Amino acid sequence: MKSCKEVSQLLASDKELGVFDKLSLKLHFSVCKVCRTYKQQQEAITKVYKERLKKKNTSISETAKKVEDSVIKKYTEE
Ligand SMILES: [Zn+2]
Repeated sequence: MKSCKEVSQLLASDKELGVFDKLSLKLHFSVCKVCRTYKQQQEAITKVYKERLKKKNTSISETAKKVEDSVIKKYTEE
């Protein structure tokens, strides 16, 4: 079983995940609510960034900033 730290590192990496990594992530998400929420937030951020890239020169939206802040907070607390 991967640790939350390993999971967050996997999610943050740009490289394509292997079958084993994907399975371990699934397993971890099934038991860990924190990482599940983190993943959802990551996906939300990615979506906002992609939309932002589409229309160039637009500044980052307030919503994206808020989501980003809450993710950073979650992982720097403890
Ligand atoms: Zn976790």
